[in-house]
Amino acid sequence: MTSRAEAPIWRAPRASGALEGPAADEIARITDKVEEGARITPEEGLFLHEHADLGTLGQLADFVRARKHPHDVVTYIVDRNINPTNVCITDCGFCAFYRRPGDKEAYVLPREELFAKIQETVDLGGQQLLMQGGHHPYLTSEWWVRLLSDIKQRWGINAHALSASEVEHLAKLEKRSVRAVLCDLKDAGLGSLPGAGAEILVERVRLIIAPKKTTTDDWLAVHRTAHEVGLRSSATMMFGHVETPAERIEHLERLRTLQDETGGFTAFACWLTQPDGVPEEHLYPKKSTPGVYLRMQALSRIYLDNFDNIQTSYVTQGIKMSQVTLRFGCNDFGGTMLEENVVSAAGCFHLASIERIENVIRRAGFRPMQRNSWYGIVDPRWEGSRAPESREAAATHKAMRRERELVR
Ligand code: SF4
Repeated sequence: MTSRAEAPIWRAPRASGALEGPAADEIARITDKVEEGARITPEEGLFLHEHADLGTLGQLADFVRARKHPHDVVTYIVDRNINPTNVCITDCGFCAFYRRPGDKEAYVLPREELFAKIQETVDLGGQQLLMQGGHHPYLTSEWWVRLLSDIKQRWGINAHALSASEVEHLAKLEKRSVRAVLCDLKDAGLGSLPGAGAEILVERVRLIIAPKKTTTDDWLAVHRTAHEVGLRSSATMMFGHVETPAERIEHLERLRTLQDETGGFTAFACWLTQPDGVPEEHLYPKKSTPGVYLRMQALSRIYLDNFDNIQTSYVTQGIKMSQVTLRFGCNDFGGTMLEENVVSAAGCFHLASIERIENVIRRAGFRPMQRNSWYGIVDPRWEGSRAPESREAAATHKAMRRERELVR
């Protein structure tokens, strides 16, 4: 098994290698295929990853983005990131955010503090609370149900909360099924699921970087079940550590396959590992270059043909790099993140004001528009449809239709 220290350093191909010879012919063939609207295979995805130059990938991703989003709109959401607890027993070596139970810096936010943060978000016109935390050994779904019910009754703002690994942790803690836990959370007001915790959906990789965390199959199963009970979710990828190029494609393939099955993913976002200050920093390779990040952003837009939205990650990559990604396949700027604790704990923090986000989008040649958690545009400047406007209106995906058929 490859350790983190032995992880091979991947180097991007030279542009000249993609301009002539058999590799250039193959890249041209795959490019034609994408432009005709056909799906590329994992082998073709890997070929692009290994041989296409950055410019070609960017151009192709921009073509696909423009076909899916012809109005030159780039969306973002006014939201706040709240981490109700940093207590966690899962010990992921890449995580600088968590504290073990009993640690002097361990916390569970009191209700009054949570409520004050929510009120501030609502006062600022927020559309979403992104709430994720550690795998606390004693906080059960009942704690979350009470919080979600309070949010629904007092404010009505959408709770985009609990990643797949947290949901699975709750189910294990309570010896209940993931479906039962998700249904309780949904009844209490959970509106959508964030895509965190996917890292790389390949067991070889997960056993090295997060051996106690959700397995590949379980991460996918939680999202499948969420889609079946009527929740939409997003998907992510954290890369640039021990995974091989083939495993990056395997990750995308698993997401694309589940999306074919359920249609429940709203968006995909990826970011590079942030190794500074994490518990196992000495075992990680240096942070990859922005070029590697751009390549994956572009490739994800090309590969994930059944995902409507690709989100940039300015919190990890910086706002200028995110501006560039808008020409490498991204059509969404993510959240305004009025608060961010997880990556800032890893020494990486790029918080941007709404005005700055809008300027950056405009200067890249797009119209900025505010959206909700389900990618319905809620901006008064928008002249088109605002759908979907709610969790219920967004529950029109394949898995939900199938569930409804079964009930009949
Ligand atoms: S990434 Fe999540 S599960 Fe892993 S240690 Fe950090 S808080 Fe815990």
